[in-house]
Amino acid sequence: MREKAKMNHIDNEKFHQPHVISLFALVGMSITAIMGLIGLFNKNFVLAISLFIASFIYFIGYYTYKKFNNVKLSSAIILYSLYILMFYLMYTGGVENTGPLWVFIVAPVSVFVHGLKRGLIELMLFVIISIAIMSIPAEIIPHTVYSTEFKLRLLYSFLTVTFLSALYEYSRDQSYQHTLKLSEKYQRLAHLDPLTQLSNRRAALTILKREQARVVRSKEPLSIILCDIDHFKKINDKYGHNAGDAVLIELAEIFTHSMREQDCIARWGGEEFLFILPQTQAESANILAEKIQAKLQHHIVHYEGHDINIRMSMGIEQFKDNQSIDEMINCADKQLYQAKSAGRNQIFPKF
Ligand code: GH3
Ligand code: MG
Ligand code: MG
Repeated sequence: MREKAKMNHIDNEKFHQPHVISLFALVGMSITAIMGLIGLFNKNFVLAISLFIASFIYFIGYYTYKKFNNVKLSSAIILYSLYILMFYLMYTGGVENTGPLWVFIVAPVSVFVHGLKRGLIELMLFVIISIAIMSIPAEIIPHTVYSTEFKLRLLYSFLTVTFLSALYEYSRDQSYQHTLKLSEKYQRLAHLDPLTQLSNRRAALTILKREQARVVRSKEPLSIILCDIDHFKKINDKYGHNAGDAVLIELAEIFTHSMREQDCIARWGGEEFLFILPQTQAESANILAEKIQAKLQHHIVHYEGHDINIRMSMGIEQFKDNQSIDEMINCADKQLYQAKSAGRNQIFPKF
C-alpha cells in the first residue's frame, strides 16, 4: 500500500475543544445564577427570573454536551441564549442601565464557538439587532432609554473588541493550521525511509499487524516476499557508497511501479526489502517475484559512467493461521537463506 496521508478533516476545528464549550456553559450558568440571586435580593423579580431562566438554559447546554456529546447543539444553545440574554439586558437596562456592559462577552465567545467567518457574520447581525433594540422609540414600545453618547461609545467599544477577538482568533487559527501541517509532516517522515522514500520497517510492521488482523477476520490470503540484493557489498566496494545508494533508489522506483494499489513495499533493512501483498496466495506472489526478477535481468543502473547489474534473492511466505508476524518473517527469511545458498538470484520456495 502506498501510504496515503490520512487527513482527519473536521469541519470546524473548534470542536477539538469541547471541554472549553462545557466550561463556558458552567461559567455562564454560575454567573447568571449569582446575578439572579442578587436580583432577588434587590427585589428586582423580573430580572431575577430572566437570569434564572438563562442559567437553566446554560445548564441544558452543558447537559446536552455531557449526556449526548453533541458539541454543535450545545454550543449553539450557549451562544444564542447569550445573544437573547444580551438583547433582554439592552432592552430593559438590567440594574440601573448597566445591563449593556455585559455585551463585551459576546464577541470573543462568538468567534471562538463558530469560527472567524460565521462568528463575524453572526456578530454583524447581533450589532444590527442591538442597534434596532436601542433605537426603538420609547413611545412605540416602552423600554429603558440610553443617551446617544452612551449608545455610540458602546458601539465603538464593541466593534473594537470584535476586531481584537477576530484578530486573536485569526492568529490562533493560523498557528493551529501550522502545527497541524507540522505534525502531519513528522508523522509521514516517521514512517518513511529517507533514502528510498519507501515505507520503513516501523511502518511495515504496523501494516503487517493491520493486514494480519484483517486476514484473521476475512480469511483472505496474505503473502510476503523478503528480498535481499546479491553481493551488494561488492557494488559499494567497486563503485562507492553513493553508487550503492543510487542502486537502492532506482530499485525502489522499479518496485513501486510493479506494485498494486493495495500492496506495500518497505525497506526492511540496509539492502533488504519487504513486500506485503494482501489478497495474494504464495503462487501469485511467486509470479510477481519472477516478474521483478525478469525486470532486473534486463535493467542496468547507470551511475557516473558505470553500468551496474543488480540481482536479488527472494523468500516467499504465505500467512498461516495462528502464525505470529515474527514467525511469518522468520519463515520468509529461511526461504531467502535457501535462495542465497542455492546460488543467489533465486526465488524460494519454487512452484
Ligand atoms: P549477499 O549476497 O550475501 O546478500 O551479500 P551482500 O554483500 O549483499 O550482503 P552483506 O550483508 O555482506 O552486505 C550488505 C551491504 O549493504 C553492506 C552495507 O555496507 C551495505 N549497505 C547497507 N545499507 C546501505 C545503504 O543505505 N547504502 C549503501 N550504499 N550501502 C548499504
Ligand atoms: Mg542483507
Ligand atoms: Mg545482500
